[in-house]
Amino acid sequence: MASVEERNVVVLGSGAAGLTASLYTARANLKPLVLKGIDAGGQLMLTTEVENYPGFPDAVLGPELMEKFEKQAARFDAELLHQEATRVDLSSRPFGVWSGDEEWRARSLIIATGAKAKMLGLDSERRLLGHGVSTCATCDGFFFRGQELLVVGGGDSAVEEALFLTRFATKVTVIHRRDQLRASKIMQDRALGHEKIDFLWDSEVEEILGDGQVSGAKVRNVKTDEITDVLAGGLFVAIGHTPNTALFEGQLEMQNGYIKVQEPTTRTSVEGGFAAGDVVDFIYRQAITAAGMGCQAAIDAERFLEEQGH
Ligand code: NAP
Repeated sequence: MASVEERNVVVLGSGAAGLTASLYTARANLKPLVLKGIDAGGQLMLTTEVENYPGFPDAVLGPELMEKFEKQAARFDAELLHQEATRVDLSSRPFGVWSGDEEWRARSLIIATGAKAKMLGLDSERRLLGHGVSTCATCDGFFFRGQELLVVGGGDSAVEEALFLTRFATKVTVIHRRDQLRASKIMQDRALGHEKIDFLWDSEVEEILGDGQVSGAKVRNVKTDEITDVLAGGLFVAIGHTPNTALFEGQLEMQNGYIKVQEPTTRTSVEGGFAAGDVVDFIYRQAITAAGMGCQAAIDAERFLEEQGH
């Protein structure tokens, strides 16, 4: 039987946290193996202009930023594979990491598997996903030129999506279940004053309408119970995210479904296991904070390996 390769560091994920951890561990000569995942690049791949990543005064496109992250990690000998971990065994060290039939042993593991978009959970949403229902304005906005569009949610994501969609749409209506936005003040100001953006307050989508392609939504006012059909060519769901932690359930301590770390470090409840970025952070969730945590996780892993005499 072929022996299983043992690595100093295995990094799971290739968003801002994973690639920063890869860069740092690669520069520390630890030759990290990076399982980038299937949706490589993380959530910045679904973003257009990033205006708040320091060092880019004129903004940078999310995918372009991630390409730069990856190039930088690869330059220092990180081994990056475009595949996902399908199983991990954290019960003893070196940890077991599998991607299908392939197996590695990891003396330390950095988990940066991120989070993914939440859905409303309607049958019509499943049926019409990719046929007018989308979770990514950046990816799909272009297809809706000259149409009226709906965005569900009241946080920064919803407002950002709505603002982005005004580039293509004739009108964007934000459907929010309360009468106040959760989004930051600056984003609110941009949206509330925007001539193409309308709001349907205290409202929930009961059903997405359309036969083969979205034609609108059945919207219920939660205060009056009144139901209105709103016509639109597309509906964007922007109601937050769920951390990608299924692989670690029962193996690591969690908090609100996110991986719990021993702050101010990135140490998880298992020695030699570290976690960074949106899989941990339900408060800040920014590219820069994820990158910062990725750096912390790399340094934590490096120190751990040193202590272990590797
Ligand atoms: P969020 O802040 O959690 O907001 C989710 C929104 O969706 C809330 O308004 C929530 O309503 C609503 N919602 C949740 N579940 C729903 C459901 N089942 N049906 C209808 N509405 C539902 O998520 P987010 O907007 O994705 O933002 C996440 C984090 O990323 C935040 O910290 C945010 O500041 C940050 N972010 C920043 C930027 C930026 O700075 N450019 C952009 C995007 C995100 P309630 O308000 O009633 O709870």
